[in-house]
Amino acid sequence: MFHVKRSYDNIVIGGGHAGLEASLASSRMGANTLLVTMDISAISRMSCNPAIGGLAKGHLVAEIDALGGEMARVIDKTGIQFRMLNRSRGRAVWSPRAQADKIKYSFEMRSRVENQDNLDILEDTVIKIITEKDRVVAILTQNHGEISCLSAIVTAGTFLNGLIHIGLEHKKGGRLDEESAVGITQSLNSVGIISGRLKTGTPPRIHFDSINIEHTTPQYGDAQPVPFSFQTKNFAPKNIPCYITHTNQVTHDILFSGLDRSPLYSGKIRGVGPRYCPSIEDKIVRFRNRSSHQIFLEPEWEGACQYYVNGFSTSLPIDIQRKGLRSIPGLEEAEIIKPGYAIEYDFFSSYQLKRTLETKTISGLYLAGQVNGTSGYEEAAALGLMAGINAVLKIHSEQPFILSRSDAYIGVLIDDLITKSPAEPYRMFTSSAEYRLLLRFDNADQRLSHYGQRYGLVPSEQFLKTRQKTDTIRTTIDFLRATTIGPAEINPTLHRCGENAVGSGLNLFKALCRPNIHLEDLLQFLPSSLSNVIVSIDGLVNLVEIDVKYHGYIKRQSIQIKSQARHENTLLSPDFDYLKINSITKEAREKLNQIKPETIGQASRISGVSPSDITALLILLKKQVVSRET
Ligand SMILES: Cc1cc2nc3c(=O)[nH]c(=O)nc-3n(C[C@H](O)[C@H](O)[C@H](O)COP(=O)(O)OP(=O)(O)OC[C@H]3O[C@@H](n4cnc5c(N)ncnc54)[C@H](O)[C@@H]3O)c2cc1C
Repeated sequence: MFHVKRSYDNIVIGGGHAGLEASLASSRMGANTLLVTMDISAISRMSCNPAIGGLAKGHLVAEIDALGGEMARVIDKTGIQFRMLNRSRGRAVWSPRAQADKIKYSFEMRSRVENQDNLDILEDTVIKIITEKDRVVAILTQNHGEISCLSAIVTAGTFLNGLIHIGLEHKKGGRLDEESAVGITQSLNSVGIISGRLKTGTPPRIHFDSINIEHTTPQYGDAQPVPFSFQTKNFAPKNIPCYITHTNQVTHDILFSGLDRSPLYSGKIRGVGPRYCPSIEDKIVRFRNRSSHQIFLEPEWEGACQYYVNGFSTSLPIDIQRKGLRSIPGLEEAEIIKPGYAIEYDFFSSYQLKRTLETKTISGLYLAGQVNGTSGYEEAAALGLMAGINAVLKIHSEQPFILSRSDAYIGVLIDDLITKSPAEPYRMFTSSAEYRLLLRFDNADQRLSHYGQRYGLVPSEQFLKTRQKTDTIRTTIDFLRATTIGPAEINPTLHRCGENAVGSGLNLFKALCRPNIHLEDLLQFLPSSLSNVIVSIDGLVNLVEIDVKYHGYIKRQSIQIKSQARHENTLLSPDFDYLKINSITKEAREKLNQIKPETIGQASRISGVSPSDITALLILLKKQVVSRET
């Protein structure tokens, strides 16, 4: 029989995507960890679309995997359709996406936390965070009283004072048919942490038997699917189709007729929603000239009767939802199982966080996931993992784990959050990363698994495999650079590939730079001991090709990173009073004083802080060092 202890090293509040990664990382790093969540059967529940990955989000999942997180392995095991997005564009922006069997996904995650050493799970609601002298000391739960801790990670998602809207009706809830959570916001407000309101929404779920699929176009996944995890072997997932259809002018007219009963347009919802993921009513109002919008019908699990109507997020009254759906080809007889709805919830502006995701004001208190003002399972999982790792490092008095913008999308995510403190739900885009060519999903293991290994989250066997991969890439490129092949030998290959023949020898590196030449074409010129290793490692051929074909861009990005690194990590004191610096603009003074950046790099990315403000700051810092030294 399970008895909750009265004291833990680390307590994670919320068993969603952030909470799962946080609690697994924390317990695996040796901290005695408690996961408290309102409903154990809802662990890792997908509140919205039954899918993992997508543009930039797929990169986050690969990075989570490389650091030893769980999301990639679980979706590889439970996904029912896998597609590589953006294949027609450069490799830097290729990104995997999978349809999930959301029931199996949640079940699998649950079994991983339940079988994890060092980790207890408690089904309860946290109603207060208890602090003493600016540090967290305990939580108060509804049914199990006070439990003390050295650190706490709040990952409460959309549940804090959650309010659900359908038409002009509203009710309290964290998701449809789940209670909202009250108390945490108030206790954080009472220690000076400022909260705000955001909103998001979800489409209706409909019955599969009510879809006329012959009026839609099926969409399958890739015939040769690529897994998310670097650890997945023998990957042969299901390939269950989605169905594509479109709205039309009749649909739009019906939706327009319901706008007077829309909580969005009647002013009932005050929270700010995600601009990039608008509701269908938003779309028809904002893009009046468009006579049609694409709709994807997505199975929520294998053999599902329940389908998710992707592209039709709405909080219009149910009668309008039903009528609107029934005007769409394939949905003429659609039966709604669950209506679409919008939800407003509390979040905490992320300028209040350090780079470790610890709050600036309360030591040992971390925030991760939707409560940071983000949106998306992948963003939440990445933040949870980073908060989990950093909470344990702090408990063990070790250096924090910080990823920079040139290390990972996760670094970009956190830097954007703490620097720009977005006022609407933040989601990851490839365009947010300035070093896209270096931060590909296919090299996430090479970029990050040494960190995962350092913290005991990536098995040594996996780390050694990655090292072998990196070494083989280097050896191959060195060989290509050092080897020139005579015309008699290379010209038949050039001819076969549609490239111009050469009159004298051709260096293999230069040969591979030619657009129609692939590494496979050149393997015959490599020693068999090397070519055998190359073909035995999954994806290695592509990795070498990218490094060679894009070497000019990669070199340029690396130089940029080095030149920016000069001041990137120059520390700024949290006690710095920027209001007293006359040599910078008023706007910069106010922004810097509000955000209190930790480094010059972070300061330089705050909007309203100009390069000349940064120069003035650097001069000031130099003067301070000189005056301290003299
Ligand atoms: C209606 C809706 C629509 C959405 N639409 C989109 C979308 O279009 N695109 C997108 O990317 N994302 C969308 N999301 C967001 C996505 O679901 C979240 O980004 C993601 O689930 C956040 O993960 P999380 O771990 O932060 O929180 P959640 O997944 O919400 O998990 C929070 C967990 O914390 C638990 N909890 C909360 N409070 C307490 C407490 N006091 N004590 C104990 N346990 C607690 C809850 O029971 C839950 O298990 C939507 C969410 C909702 C609800």
